[in-house]
Amino acid sequence: MNRCNTPVKAVGGKGINAGRTAAILGSEVTAIGVLAGMNGQLIRSALEKEPFSTSFISIDGESRNAVTIMDQAKNQTEIVELGPKITAATAQKVLDSIITHVLKQDTTPIIALCGSANTQNDALYEYYLQQLHQSLHSQIKILADISGKQLQHVLTSSIKPYFIKPNIHEFSDLLATTVTNKNEIIPLLNHPLLEGISFILVSCGKEGAVAKFCGRMFNISIPSIDSINPTGSGDATVGGVAFALEQELPIEEVLKYGMACGMSNALETAVGYVSKQRVEQLKEEISVTEISLP
Ligand code: ATP
Repeated sequence: MNRCNTPVKAVGGKGINAGRTAAILGSEVTAIGVLAGMNGQLIRSALEKEPFSTSFISIDGESRNAVTIMDQAKNQTEIVELGPKITAATAQKVLDSIITHVLKQDTTPIIALCGSANTQNDALYEYYLQQLHQSLHSQIKILADISGKQLQHVLTSSIKPYFIKPNIHEFSDLLATTVTNKNEIIPLLNHPLLEGISFILVSCGKEGAVAKFCGRMFNISIPSIDSINPTGSGDATVGGVAFALEQELPIEEVLKYGMACGMSNALETAVGYVSKQRVEQLKEEISVTEISLP
């Protein structure tokens, strides 16, 4: 019997958390996806209070629960359900909805493809990338916060995402190796599998991150903080990056926004939530250093 005295319940998922973060910073955001069953109804009504608009398709099944268990040392164990089955027809409806929304905008928005889908099709995101490139402006910036087989497929595809954000563990899995620190990651950013992706950010929790942007490498150091709940910090990082890219800020600022959002989320009890004021303060304490490889 394990009792939990301080449960935190949140409506989220990678896309919603990233979208909320970008919206809090000032972006106009639409979250697009699927909802199912009783959980879906609960999520739909909770989303009415969010600072972004939504376009969710109702499908059969049940939207998933994800349980994160955090011990006193802040180590996390995640138990994530598979979620409702995403059929080819549903996947197509979601894609059509993204395209319709983008075409309605006066300016070209940034698209973030986030999270995993319970599908037999390991190439689903590869298909999305190809279709989005074909239907929209070919220079559109697509951020992919995905992992596992879906990410592997995307990397071998002819159309690449503009940005990926694996964490250090996902990065190890991707390159079938074991990296334990930033120094080991840096040379691997030149791995042939990552060719063609303009912007790679490997997040390393409280150690900050390393990045490769248009051939340039960066080390991002963050100050030590008394984190409360880092669940969703990666999602908040993606939201911060999306906001800063939309503002066309210099890469150093984009990286600072990403990190500051991850940190701000870690300083909240809530999951996938940042304080705009705190993000602006934290940004000042983050250092971005360009690395030149020998
Ligand atoms: P999640 O899957 O929980 O969304 P992630 O594993 O994808 O997270 P992390 O590398 O843990 O992503 O965190 C992203 C960023 O958030 C880090 O690069 C850092 O800026 C910030 N961050 C995360 N955890 C901490 C922490 N404990 N202290 C300070 N900053 C943190």
